[in-house]
Amino acid sequence: MIISKNISLKEFTTIKIGGKAKKIFFPENISDINDLVDVVKKPKTLVLGKGSNIAFKDNGYNDDIISFKHFDRKGLHILNKKYIDVTAGISCSRLAKYCNKLLIPGFEFLHGIPGTIGGALAMNAGAFNQEIWNHVHSVTFVNKKGMLLSLPKKRFVTSYRKVEKSDVMMFVQANLIINKKIKFDANLLNSYSEKRIKTQPINQNSSGCIFRNPTKGYSASLLIDKLNIKSKRIGGVYISTKHCNYFINDGTGTCNDLENLIRYVKNRVKKEFNISLEKEICIY
Ligand SMILES: Cc1cc2nc3c(=O)[nH]c(=O)nc-3n(C[C@H](O)[C@H](O)[C@H](O)COP(=O)(O)OP(=O)(O)OC[C@H]3O[C@@H](n4cnc5c(N)ncnc54)[C@H](O)[C@@H]3O)c2cc1C
Repeated sequence: MIISKNISLKEFTTIKIGGKAKKIFFPENISDINDLVDVVKKPKTLVLGKGSNIAFKDNGYNDDIISFKHFDRKGLHILNKKYIDVTAGISCSRLAKYCNKLLIPGFEFLHGIPGTIGGALAMNAGAFNQEIWNHVHSVTFVNKKGMLLSLPKKRFVTSYRKVEKSDVMMFVQANLIINKKIKFDANLLNSYSEKRIKTQPINQNSSGCIFRNPTKGYSASLLIDKLNIKSKRIGGVYISTKHCNYFINDGTGTCNDLENLIRYVKNRVKKEFNISLEKEICIY
């Protein structure tokens, strides 16, 4: 297993923000995961997928990190035409394209979510009115004592961009249901991609939506839009003009800039609309 020390975390996040990592472990298979029991048991060990919803502080992360970047790249299989077994390191887009090629419906919404299946499970990632946990049959994970366990979906409480995962240290695999009642639509995946290209700044350094949508029926993006603060910049981080719940790092941005811009927007939204926005991005 590769272990990297003292390397920049910028390259491990899509928003390209973060100081140095003390130590990153890159397990490639279950045997490597088993070797990490002592690392898993440490309270501050962090699990990293593709870093598409993460920024790290400018002074870095001083505890161990386990990255799923190289984890079981072959781990994508159909079981009895009923289920898909997919390991946590496979990207959401790869799963969506694989299903599309095999004419399996239901997973098109994952195309364009630039994270891993593990990250998607942890965040209950979703798009176009769907979310990953709606498709889960069971998951395999390592708990905080380092034990490998499998549990059915009903043992998890999930909600919008959230899953109660008190004993989960890291998801390792998901067993997803193929819903035979949905009709396959050959154009759906491409039409979702086109919508993303039109409405989101997908080729810039961002971490997707910075804030969760508040429950009051407004999207965070609409609220920010109403403030007329598109392009508002602090240091190297600014609000995208294409989608104002996306903050862009121009390449010089720091975590300090990002946190100041988040604070600024939160305060303005609270003052104007009396709504408290909650962060979706994870900052460590
Ligand atoms: C351009 C762009 C578009 C996006 N569009 C969407 C969208 O449409 N819908 C959406 O929901 N999100 C979207 N996102 C956000 C992001 O892609 C998702 O939240 C994604 O699920 C994060 O996966 P990741 O592998 O990158 O996780 P990371 O960012 O690496 O981690 C996110 C969190 O999950 C935890 N985690 C990661 N892997 C595991 C694991 N194996 N086990 C346990 N915990 C783990 C981390 O500790 C962290 O707390 C977008 C981001 C970008 C940059």
